Parts: sequence; C-alpha cells; structure tokens
Amino acid sequence: MRTPLVAANWKMNGSREFAEQFFKGLDLEGVGAQVAICPPFPYLSLLAEKAGERVATGAQNLSEQPSGAFTGEVSASMLEDWGVRYVIVGHSERRSLYGESSELVARKFSAARSAGLIPILCVGESQEEREQERTLDVIDAQLQAVVSINGGDCWENAVVAYEPVWAIGTGMTATPEQAQEVHRFIRNRLGEAGAKVQILYGGSVKSGNAAALFAQADIDGALVGGASLDAEEFSKICRAA
Ligand code: PGA
Repeated sequence: MRTPLVAANWKMNGSREFAEQFFKGLDLEGVGAQVAICPPFPYLSLLAEKAGERVATGAQNLSEQPSGAFTGEVSASMLEDWGVRYVIVGHSERRSLYGESSELVARKFSAARSAGLIPILCVGESQEEREQERTLDVIDAQLQAVVSINGGDCWENAVVAYEPVWAIGTGMTATPEQAQEVHRFIRNRLGEAGAKVQILYGGSVKSGNAAALFAQADIDGALVGGASLDAEEFSKICRAA
C-alpha cells in the first residue's frame, strides 16, 4: 500500500556535465517506485528541467528562516519556487560537521512543511551508540525533537530515513533484520500517520543489497549516497524497489 521511494543524495558531487550524462544513463523502464534526485543547489533547476514528470527533485538542506539577512542560506519558499518537491533535513553529515542540533533540524522540518515541501528526516545512531545498545533511545529522541516543535500529527506528508551513521559511506550496510527492527520501531512512534509514511533505509545501499533490504515489511525504499552517482547502478536500485 505504500509506494516505495528511492532518493539519490549526490552530496557535494557533480557538475553540469555530470547531471546531463546522468540523465542519459538513467533507465527507469519498469520502475514502479517514486524516484527523487537531490543534487547540490546550483543544479536543482537544471535537474527540474531534465527530470520532467517521472523524477522529482529534492534539496539536501534548507534554512529554518523564511527570508532576510542570512547570508548563504536558501529558504523553503525558494526551493518551492524552483519546483523542488523534497528536502533532506537532519542528515548526519549536517548534524556532525555543521553542528545542527535536533532542535534546529525540527525547525527546518517545520519550514519545509510550511512551504509545501516534503521533508526527508534523517535519523540514526553512531557506532558507539549501537554498541551501548542505545540505538532506539537515540532515534526516539531525534523523532521526539521534531514532534515537540511540530506536533504529533506532523508526519503526514513527510518521509523518514533511517541512516545508521556507521553505515554511511563505509560499505558496512545494516543487515536487513537490523534495519527492519529500527524501521518497525520508527513506524510505531509516528502515531496515526505511521502506516502511511514512507520510511527509507540509507547507508551503503547498492544494487547488490537493495532487494534484500526492500523485502522487509517496513522498508519502503532508500536514500542512496555513493551508489547514486552512477546512473546505471542507481537505476538498478530503483528497479529493486
Ligand atoms: P551512502 O550515503 O549510500 O554513500 O552510504 C547515504 C547517505 O548519506 O544518505
């Protein structure tokens, strides 16, 4: 009943030439999943043009502010203006490298929804937190921070991505069972909207491990980093969903 979603997170990679070649190589024949590409800001409009109806565009970040003297920032309404549909909020690289607190992430989530964008909220534990068996507590706190600012019914028109920090860009994927356990937990924490919310897995997803992850009851697709930079490989992941 939930349509799968496969989203590409290009991070700070790519170029105009790369984006053009990517679309030549993308083959979505027979793909039933929704597909989104999240390029760096400068390529959003180019992508919106190339992607057409079949592929949605997403941003990787946004400002929590509506407008004003915030040099270097991009607002939700600007993204909406660009035809952007999704925006990643709370990616672990933003949390750890740019000091984004769960409270700031919650405000970005709110800004996205107010402008009609669909936030893809990333949550996930570090290696140390998993070893200390704190995974579910950490994720619960990340979800609760969003609820405390946005209210318990905020999950409608939102996507959650479970991205264990230790699995991002490391080649160490969570096993399908490890991921399923956390996805089920997340779904149970989303209240009434839970049954409808797409919950994606992210962390070293490749064409070789995608099908086993997608076979789990509560895994509704993926947020793909490294493997999304190869159009053929990304197409295969979309086809597995
Ligand atoms: P990865 O990144 O697929 O390269 O592990 C996923 C992400 O950071 O969203």
